Formats: sequence, structure tokens, C-alpha cells
Amino acid sequence: MKTIIEPFRIKSVEPIHFNDEKYRSQALSEAYYNTFLLHSDDVMIDLLTDSGTSAMSSAQWAGIMIGDESYAGSPSFYRFEKSVQDITGMEIVIPTHQGRAAEKILFSITGGKGKVFISNTLFDTTRANIEFSGAEGIDMVCEEGKKPTIPAPFKGNLDTTALRNYIEQNGSDHIAMVIITVTNNSGGGQPVSMANIRETHQICKEYNVPLYIDACRFSENAYFIKLREKGYENKSIIEIVNEMFSYAQGATMSAKKDAFANIGGFLALRNKDLATKCRNLLIITEGFPTYGGLAGRDLEAIAIGLKEVMDEHYLQYRIRSIEYITQKLSDAGVPVMLPAGGHAVYLDAKQFLSHIPVEQYPGQALVCALYLKGGIRCVEIGSLMFGKYDVKHQLVPASLELVRLAIPRRVYTQSHIDYVSEVIIEVYNDRHQIKGLEIIEEAPILRHFTAKLRQL
Ligand SMILES: *Cc1c(COP(=O)(O)O)cnc(C)c1O
Repeated sequence: MKTIIEPFRIKSVEPIHFNDEKYRSQALSEAYYNTFLLHSDDVMIDLLTDSGTSAMSSAQWAGIMIGDESYAGSPSFYRFEKSVQDITGMEIVIPTHQGRAAEKILFSITGGKGKVFISNTLFDTTRANIEFSGAEGIDMVCEEGKKPTIPAPFKGNLDTTALRNYIEQNGSDHIAMVIITVTNNSGGGQPVSMANIRETHQICKEYNVPLYIDACRFSENAYFIKLREKGYENKSIIEIVNEMFSYAQGATMSAKKDAFANIGGFLALRNKDLATKCRNLLIITEGFPTYGGLAGRDLEAIAIGLKEVMDEHYLQYRIRSIEYITQKLSDAGVPVMLPAGGHAVYLDAKQFLSHIPVEQYPGQALVCALYLKGGIRCVEIGSLMFGKYDVKHQLVPASLELVRLAIPRRVYTQSHIDYVSEVIIEVYNDRHQIKGLEIIEEAPILRHFTAKLRQL
């Protein structure tokens, strides 16, 4: 088989600002060992997130010029609405400025004290919005999903036995909804199988619990289903996508992921009464229902991106890029999450830095080391992001200590990726020199964004 090539040519480029280790050491200490606080000009390869960092296509840029900025009833909205309806099969489409705005609106209405939201794994903003409403979020990822380095085809699956047991013990009246996140971002970008979505739907139906999809990476998930699930090998991506959504009552989505947009999101629903309540909240917080916090030009870019993301040449290149770097690292002995996920490489920091205890945030220590050595920015998904304190103010660590290198869509080429793997392997070979960190300042929720740390 020949090399799978980037399925695009490059028409416009941005310079990378080069710097050296001495410079980066200073920048890192000024950012309090939190890479969210770095200036992005000081980053050479930015793998902090795949969110809002995609390169738009020439067709999307053309759409930006066509965008109609009418306050109400813009044709750009109707093109956006149609794109979302074609994918989800859901009649009601509510635009929002980001995924979390859709979450905030939906959970303000369906959440509240005493309510419970069950998921394969809730993303950080999703969990935060649930908890902010007074409700509780419970993750029930399958057993394979808890073992980062043991491969399995659908490690993002929800543990349906655990779901059934929970309902049989606790009843279902207080369950606001079950949310399936595709792909499972916080659980390693691992896909969820169609069989799992279908089975979850059946349990939900039996107990009258609504099922929602957190759809940020719906197309990457569909491609994994096509590659790995029997019976789907000859189906088109849109057919697979339509079936995935057919099992859900609604969906939230960040258009900053699988829509190649730099901003945007939506809430898609089937229930008209719920939609009326959501739109009323939308008007207070986001804007009129035909723009919802977005410019007409953004709606246009999203409408086009949602179609481009289902192109199989794109998906083949996308999924292969992540697999390529994961394989390189794994071959060099670096502990990575296996198999490769859809949008990112995940390093297992607990194994990588086994000399640093979880109370000293090995994931964040590794994030800092990769910036220092190679100017690469990535993010910790471990106890800095998800850790809690018990009554004695002792850290209750997250179950996994991961470092995520998210690959922006259509942005970096194979040589950038080769450079990244060289840096990681070098850091791995010198790993014993890396020191742990302690927090010196933090916010009560989503602390990883703003926390200040100190090297021990
Ligand atoms: C990014 C993301 C969100 C939130 O979307 P924003 O546009 O960043 O607000 C929710 N869920 C998942 C799985 C995500 O990846």
C-alpha cells in the first residue's frame, strides 16, 4: 500500500516562531507551569487542542463571504439548519456560540439538584455544566476503556451492564439523561460502536430515560465504525452517521471539532416543548434563534464543514495520521494509549513518569517537559483536570493520568508529526530528570485552565 497523502494542497501558510530551550524555560516559569497561560507565539507546534484550530477549506472561506448577517431569518441559518438536519435527522436545530453554550442551556432545563446524568465519559465542560446546575454526573465507561495500553476496537463504549444495574438499584426517575460522547474525548478519543449506542438506546427506552449524543466527533466515530464493526464496511459515512443519531432524542455539538469551524456549536432536538424552553433561554444568553451567538458567516462555514468532514479521503488521512504517530511512539517503547484514538495521541503519564507520585501531577510535569524540550504544547487529562479534594483536603486523583496531544484538523504535515515524535522519544529517554509539581493557586471549577503551579 502506498503512503496515504494529505488530501489537500496548501494555499495559505502561517509562520512558526522558532525559539530555544533557554527562552522556553523562562516562558514556562512566567506561565506558572501551566501551558494554558503561555503566549501561543511562544509555541512551535500547538497540540493543546483540536478545538477551533482546524484549517478551513477554500469553500468555507468562500462561504464566509456569502454569509448573510441579517438579524432574523438569514439564508445562512437555513443552510446551517439543513446541514444539521441532514446529519442528525432531528428537526429542531438551535445554533450556539460553542458546544458548552448548548450544554448550559440544555442542562439548565433538564438538570438541577437531585438529578443525575450518566455517560460513557463526560467531557470537562459537560461535567462542569451538569454540576453547575446542581446535578451529578456519573461516568460508566466499559472495562476496556479503563486500561489505557490494552488495545480493543471500541474502548469508548458505555458499560451497559453498569447502567442497567444502576437503574435496577436506584430507579430511573431522577436520571435526567444518558449522554454518549462520540468519540470519547476524555477517555482517549476512543470510538463507541453502533451496537453499544443501540443497546444503550434500548435500555433508555425501557426505563423512559432520554438518550443524548455529545456529537463533537461524530464523523471520526462513524469512520471507526466503518473500519471496525461488522456489517458497516460497505455503508457510507452519512448512512452510519444517520443511524447513530437515530437512537438519540437530541444532540449537543461543538462545531470547533468535526465541522472545521473556528467557533460555533448547536443543540439539536426532537421534542418541541423542550425546544421552546431552550429557545427562550437562548434568547437571553446567546441571541435570536436563527443566529444564536454566531455571525451569519460562521453559520455558513459550519454548514459547509459538516459536509466536508464526512469525506472518506479526509477521514482516512485523519485517522491514519493519529495511528502513524501512535505507532512510532509505541515502537520506541513510549507508553501510549492503544489503539490510537480519533483526534489525539494520549501518553500514559503514570507509566511514563513512574517516579512522580500522582499528588505531584505527573501528567502536568510531562506537559511542561514537552514544551521545554521541543516547543510542543499539549494538555494534561488527569488529576490536575479532574482531581477533587476530600474533606481533609487530600487529593482524590483521577482514574487515569494522561497527556493529550490533540492534532488540529488539516493543519500540520507529516514532517511536523515526525518532529513531535522525535521530541517525545527524547524526553522519554531522559525522563528520570523530570520533577513533579505542586499547585500554588487554583479556581474552584475547571481549575486546569488557570491554575498556577511550582516545580518541586
Ligand atoms: C469540545 C467539547 C465540548 C465543548 O465544546 P466547546 O465548543 O469547547 O464549548 C463538549 N464535549 C466534548 C466531547 C468536546 O470535545
